[in-house]
Parts: sequence; structure tokens; C-alpha cells
Amino acid sequence: MMNKYDVIIIGSGISGALTAAILARSGLSVLILDSAQHPRFSIGEATTPESGVLLRLLSRRFDIPEIAHLSSPDQIIEHVGSSACGIKLGFSFAWHQQGAASSPEHLVAPPLKVPEAHLFRQDIDYFALLIALKYGAESRQNIKIEGITLTSDGVEVALANAAPVQAAFIIDAAAQGAPLARQLGVRTTEGLATDTCSFFTHMLNVKSYEDALAPLSRSRAPIALFQSTLHHIFEEGWLWVIPFNNHPQGTNPLCSVGFQFNNAKYRPTEAPEIEFRKLLKKYPAIAEHFKDAVNAREWIYAPRINYRSVQSVGDRFCLLPQATGFIDPLFSRGLITTFESILRLAPKVLEAARTQRWQREHFIEVERHCLNAVSTNDQLVSCSYEAFSDFHLWNVWHRVWLSGSNLGSAFLQGLLRDLEHSGDCDQFDAALQAARFPGCLSLNSPAYESLFAQSCQVVQRARELAAPVADTARKLHELIKEHESELLPFGYSQISNRFIVKT
Ligand SMILES: Cc1cc2nc3c(=O)[nH]c(=O)nc-3n(C[C@H](O)[C@H](O)[C@H](O)COP(=O)(O)OP(=O)(O)OC[C@H]3O[C@@H](n4cnc5c(N)ncnc54)[C@H](O)[C@@H]3O)c2cc1C
Repeated sequence: MMNKYDVIIIGSGISGALTAAILARSGLSVLILDSAQHPRFSIGEATTPESGVLLRLLSRRFDIPEIAHLSSPDQIIEHVGSSACGIKLGFSFAWHQQGAASSPEHLVAPPLKVPEAHLFRQDIDYFALLIALKYGAESRQNIKIEGITLTSDGVEVALANAAPVQAAFIIDAAAQGAPLARQLGVRTTEGLATDTCSFFTHMLNVKSYEDALAPLSRSRAPIALFQSTLHHIFEEGWLWVIPFNNHPQGTNPLCSVGFQFNNAKYRPTEAPEIEFRKLLKKYPAIAEHFKDAVNAREWIYAPRINYRSVQSVGDRFCLLPQATGFIDPLFSRGLITTFESILRLAPKVLEAARTQRWQREHFIEVERHCLNAVSTNDQLVSCSYEAFSDFHLWNVWHRVWLSGSNLGSAFLQGLLRDLEHSGDCDQFDAALQAARFPGCLSLNSPAYESLFAQSCQVVQRARELAAPVADTARKLHELIKEHESELLPFGYSQISNRFIVKT
């Protein structure tokens, strides 16, 4: 063990471990510090087309084949194990009205072009840490950080019961816990439109949508919903069902379950299990999943999950996205922002190590992406909670998200194709940097970003004026039609096509 490194990374979750692997693979000396020890529970399980491509980009850009082993269910099953993930063939959103039976008519379920995964994070994160160790990073777990001193010459981290460690640069990848973010006092909830709480756990014996609510013959969905990331949405919030055993090779009996409330519409006051039972009583259709279910671990309750930071980079430091800010798990954008941030940060750190330029200005583009992502997600999520109130409104609104997400995913796919073809990393870095809307859904489409901004305005205005939902839905539909020629050709404006499958 040394006590002086190029980079110290706080947190050995998926973000800290992958960043450490990349920097160590590229020749830097890296120390990871974690207050806990692997394997350990972590949340953030549903992946997306964007997060899958971003993992492949990280793997290709920094020449670490093992990172691509986390990028699809096939790869995970082959390299990490059959219990390490579930499969995700689509997003699905089932809308519910208090006291009413479920109606398969109140379902939207856009399928994915290629399968993505439900990550069993304790195995995935441990695998990521092993990649970092394989490429030469050092790790100290169960270690308590007592303070961080930043000076113009370097960084020193004081540790409990151990000598201090030093580095040229420090990265806080410790998510909510983030000791550097807390010490700097950069966190706030001010200015956020989203105010939501979350309860989550893992369960056994959760019935599938098909067994509990409606078989495929009734839902007529293009994919079996037990193989999707299933969102039950209702006036005051939403609940996820994320199984890990929903594929033929599955050996992990657990299912992730979590629910969120809009604190403005319902503020829970009781113990998590009681709140869960109250929710199931209100929405008997959702309860059908849980007739035989048992908790495999205690509920975790976070009274407010939204936070942002006024700054994410500075002289000699960077906060990774989950340390900087988080809005809500809806649409699974956490890992997208995290992986894209690493893709943007790592070349900057490598360059800084060459030039010894560790000043804030050098990392400012990384901050721009990260802060934009938090504020985009805040708008997206707060408008979505408004749209939960009515199925037709949701059916229209979710197309605003989906059309942007599909453009973002296509943009990243294009970058991957070019990188695989040319092998030119500098060209790739420049192309990513040139994306006009870093942190936004489409990354690079002015037409879409205009649609997004106008759509959010429509929803925000409707909230202020308590406008009839039918009017809001109509205005959003008009906007989608207006912009349709500049979106991918999925026929987003055909509202009767609830599954957005190309017809
Ligand atoms: C309820 C919820 C649901 C989510 N669902 C999704 C989803 O479905 N899809 C998605 O893409 N994203 C989701 N996210 C976001 C996702 O969790 C994050 O993007 C992702 O986990 C970030 O990984 P990480 O490595 O930065 O953090 P983590 O995996 O949380 O790792 C942080 C590490 O830091 C360590 N640590 C903490 N404090 C300290 C300290 N003081 N000192 C040293 N070490 C410390 C911890 O032990 C841990 O190992 C969700 C988030 C929440 C809150």
C-alpha cells in the first residue's frame, strides 16, 4: 500500500469501480475508498438502451473488454452468472384508478429493439470492482473518511485508524453518502420541481403481470410484461416491479419492488410495510402481484430522494452524477447519466495527469453535462407525475420522453459505430463533446429539444391553471404532430397505437 496516488476515488459502486478500472488501465495509480464492503445491496437495477450502448462505448474507448460484459443480459449471464440479472424487453406503464380493477386498455408498453437487463447490483458492482483490481487499482473497504483537504498542490484524505492518503485529484463516487459533496456544502433541494419519496426492497414470490393481472391474450402487449421493467402508475405516484428471474437461465428468485409518492399529493407518515399495505388496498389490481409475496430484506425508506448540487467539479475534484444530484428512478436515467459522465471525465483526467492542469476550467464540460442531466430529469419527472393523473394524458406525454430517449440512443449508437470503424479515440471524444445538448434526452437534436421544452411548458402551465387534462393532452398531441417529421419514424403521434411498435 502506498499513501500517494494520482487519483483517489470515494465509493466502489458501479461508478467508482468503472472509473477506477479505466484510469488504472490507462496507467494512473488509483486508490478506491469505501465505507462498506462487497458484496452489498445497492439500488439502480433497470438499464436502458442508452446505458447498454454507453457501457459498450466505455469498453471500446478505454480498451477494457470486461466492461462490455455488463452491457447486455447475454453477456452478464455468460460472464457474471445467471443470477446476476433479469431481462428487460421493454418499458411498460400500467395506469390505475383508486379502487378500480385493472384494465389492460390502460397500458402502454414500448418494446426495446435489443434486450437490456435488470442488474442484481450486489453481483454486478462486485464484478465491476474486480475489473478495477484486475487493471491495477487498489481498494480499501470498511474504511472511514474523516476529512478531505484540497489545496493547490493536491488532495489529502484523513482516515480513521490509518495514515492519511494523498492524490493529485479526487473523485467522489459515493452517491447519496458523498462525503466530499457534503463537506463542500454544494448540495441543495432548492429550485427542484420534483419532491418525491421512495420505498424499496427485494421480495420473493411476486406474481408476474401475466399471472396476476392479465395474460398476454388480454393485454395484447407486444412483449410479456414480466419481461419488462413494469411501472404501475397512479395519481399520487408509481410502483416498480423488476424481476431477476424472468428468463430461461434465471436462477435468482428475487424481485425488486419500490414505490414513490409525490409528496405534494401524499406524504407518508407510517412504517414502510403499513404504507405498502395501504397502497395495495387503494389499488387492488396492483395488490394481485403480492398475494404470496414475502420481503427478503427490510424496506428502505427515503423521505425525499431528490437533490442537486450547484457545482460538480472544482480544482482537483469531481463529483460523479449520483454524488451530484438525483431526481427519481422513473425512466431509469441514473445509470445513463453516470456512464456518460465517466465517458466525458476519464479523458480529461488522463490529460490533466499529463499536463498537471487540475483546475476547474479543465473539467467544466463534465459539470455542464451533469448539471444539465439533473435539471432535464427534474423537468421530465415532475411533468410525468402530473401526467399520472389520467391515462390518456399519460399515453400522450410518455411519447415526449420516448421520442427523445430513442434519439439519444440512436446518437450514441452512431458514435459507437464510428468508433468501432475508425478506432480513433480523439475523434470519438471530439464527437461526444460536440453534442449540442449534453445531459438532455436527445443529446443532439434541436427539434426534439424544442418539443421537450414546449411540452414541459404546457404541463407546467396546466398545473398552475388547473387546466382540464383533455386540453393538456390535446396540446401535447399537437406538438408531437408538429415535430414528428424530425423524430425517428415510429409514428409517435398515432395515439391509438399504445405499444409504439412500427406498423
Ligand atoms: C430508489 C432508487 C432507484 C433507482 N433506480 C434506478 C434504475 O432503475 N435505473 C437507473 O439507471 N438508475 C437508478 N437509480 C440511480 C442509480 O442508483 C445510480 O445511478 C447508481 O447506483 C449510481 O452508482 P454509484 O456507483 O454512483 O453509487 P452506489 O452504487 O450507491 O455506490 C456508492 C458507494 O459509495 C460508498 N459510500 C457511501 N458513502 C460513503 C462514504 N462516506 N465513504 C466511503 N464510501 C461511501 C457505498 O458504500 C457504495 O459502495 C436509482 C436510484 C434510487 C435512489
